Amino acid sequence: MTDVHCHLTHSPFSDKRDAVIKEARSAGVRIIIDSVTDPSLWEGEVHREEEGVYVSLGIHPQSVTEGDFSKELRLLGLLAGNPKTAALGEIGLDTLKNITDKETQMKIFLEQIEIAVSERISVIIHCLGQYDLLLKALKNTKPAVPVILHRYSGGDGQVGAFSTLGCFFSISGNILNPEGKKLAKSVMRMPNELIVAETDAPYFYIGEKREIGSPAHLPLVIEAISKIKGEDYHGMKQKIYENSKRAFPERISFPD
Ligand SMILES: [Zn+2]
Repeated sequence: MTDVHCHLTHSPFSDKRDAVIKEARSAGVRIIIDSVTDPSLWEGEVHREEEGVYVSLGIHPQSVTEGDFSKELRLLGLLAGNPKTAALGEIGLDTLKNITDKETQMKIFLEQIEIAVSERISVIIHCLGQYDLLLKALKNTKPAVPVILHRYSGGDGQVGAFSTLGCFFSISGNILNPEGKKLAKSVMRMPNELIVAETDAPYFYIGEKREIGSPAHLPLVIEAISKIKGEDYHGMKQKIYENSKRAFPERISFPD
């Protein structure tokens, strides 16, 4: 299995990283894409030598404040060429937890897409509250690399439009939480061949005790997807694994 998006550098994982990775591996999660949202950590993270762990790097839309991002963009341009960099992300648009104007977010977003295209690596998109704008931007730019919509929250009405563009829908650990009910309606409409799975750990929880979710819980996410789709778990797991190979055709060496 491939966890296409989680945060190993965020608390509480940063203090017990090795244990988290080991636990995930025992649960069958052989590939992890760690979304590194703090630019000061990018360089250190790409140079880690951990089997099966890759990074996605990007200026998160919630971090786009007034100011100059040329230094970060230059650094991204350099690190995007590293063999451990599976994707640029999470990048995108977010006006729910917003911070700055849409134009600035869009500009930084598009500049990062350009870097990904020039390195021929995938983009992992974070979008909250701006799916119309995102759709328009993707239609205009038509990036020639796979696009993964992380923790999709665009609603079932827009699934068709993003499917037509060939975007992958990444279903996250929040499918196991109350917001998963609304998401289930979207999952029902998603073509099976465009679904990938992530935990977005630590940003979901497990059970009534609200235990913080980890990458080792990815099988539960896949199980939830297979139930919504009315498909056999093992068949769905295999399908999602094959999809993740197409979503990340560069850099990652997938075990058979
Ligand atoms: Zn995330």
